[in-house]
Amino acid sequence: MAKAKVLLVEDDPVQANVTKKILQATGYDVLWSQDGINAIKTVKMMKPDIILLDVILPGLDGYEVCRWLKLDENARGIPVIMLTIKKELSDKISGLQIGADDYLPKPYDELELNARIYASLRTKALQDELRMKNKQLEELLGKVEYMAITDALTGLYNRRRFHDVLSKEFERSKRYANPVSLIMLDIDHFKKVNDSYGHQTGDTVLREVGNIITASIREIDTASRFGGEEFMVILPSTEKENAKVGAERMRTAIAQHIFPEIEGPITVSIGVAGLPDPGLANEDRLVRCADYALYRAKQNGRNRIEISTGRDLERVS
Ligand code: GH3
Ligand code: MG
Ligand code: MG
Ligand code: MG
Repeated sequence: MAKAKVLLVEDDPVQANVTKKILQATGYDVLWSQDGINAIKTVKMMKPDIILLDVILPGLDGYEVCRWLKLDENARGIPVIMLTIKKELSDKISGLQIGADDYLPKPYDELELNARIYASLRTKALQDELRMKNKQLEELLGKVEYMAITDALTGLYNRRRFHDVLSKEFERSKRYANPVSLIMLDIDHFKKVNDSYGHQTGDTVLREVGNIITASIREIDTASRFGGEEFMVILPSTEKENAKVGAERMRTAIAQHIFPEIEGPITVSIGVAGLPDPGLANEDRLVRCADYALYRAKQNGRNRIEISTGRDLERVS
C-alpha cells in the first residue's frame, strides 16, 4: 500500500520538526506548510490524505483555513485534525463546528498523535468505500428498474409498463374528461418472415419496426411491445381521429421502409380505439376494442387501419 501523505500546517519550525520526525518514523510521507495560504495551495497541488492544522498561524488562522478547505469540493473529503494549545472546550467545539474531523491539544504525545491520525484515515477509508458501494447499488437499482419495464429485444417498454401507463392515462381521462387513444399494430404475415429467413432475421425486423414506431411518435406517447409481433402506442390527450393520422404515419413509414435483410416490404395492420366513450368502462375494454378493430383490419385485407366503432364495443361488452 502507498504511504499516506500527511500535511502538517505548523508555523513553529521546532515544533514542526518534532512532529515531522514522529510521523516519518511511523511511516507517513510528510508535507509541511508554515502558514495558511501555503497550506491551501499545498492541498490543491499535493492532495494529502490527512491534514494536521495548527490553530494559531500567521495570516489566515487554522479555523479560516479549515473553512476554506471544507468549501472546496475537492478538498472537503480530506480529514482535518486541529492542533491547539488552548484546552478550552469552546475552542474544540468551534473547530469541530467548522468541519474539522478531530482535534488534538498540544503538547501531544506520540502515541496519541498516531492513534488520532490512524482513526481519521480509517474513517475516511470506510466512508469512501461506503460511498462507492452506494453508487454501485444505485447503478444496479437503475438497471433493475430499467429491465423491469423494458422489452429486451426491441428496447421499447414491455407489456407490464404498457398496463401501468394505460391505467394512469385511463384514470386521468375519466377524471378530467380528457381524450386518450390507443393504437395497436400487428405485423402482417410475420410467420412467413421467420419461415423464409429464420427467427434471427425475424428478430431484426421486429427491432426495426420498433425503431420506426418510436421515431414516429411524440414525446408524450408511449410505445411498447405488447407481445410477439404486436405493438401498442398510448397517445394521451389525443382524439381517435388524430390518433388515426399518427397511425397512418406509422403504417406508411413501415410499408416504405427498406428492410435490408429481407426481400420486399413489411406491412402492418392497425386498430385504433379511444376515450372518451361512455361504453368503455375499464382499460381492458379499451384494449379489446383496439384488438377488435385490428382484427377487422386483418379481415379487410391487411396493411390498413380500422377505427373502433359502437359495434366493436358491443362485441367486447
Ligand atoms: P397475420 O398477418 O394474420 O398477423 O399473420 P402472422 O403470420 O403475422 O400472425 P401469426 O400470429 O400467425 O404469427 C405471428 C408470428 O410471430 C409467430 C411467431 O413465431 C412470431 N413471433 C412471435 N414472437 C417472436 C419473436 O420474438 N421473434 C421472432 N422472430 N418471431 C416471433
Ligand atoms: Mg502556531
Ligand atoms: Mg399477432
Ligand atoms: Mg401478425
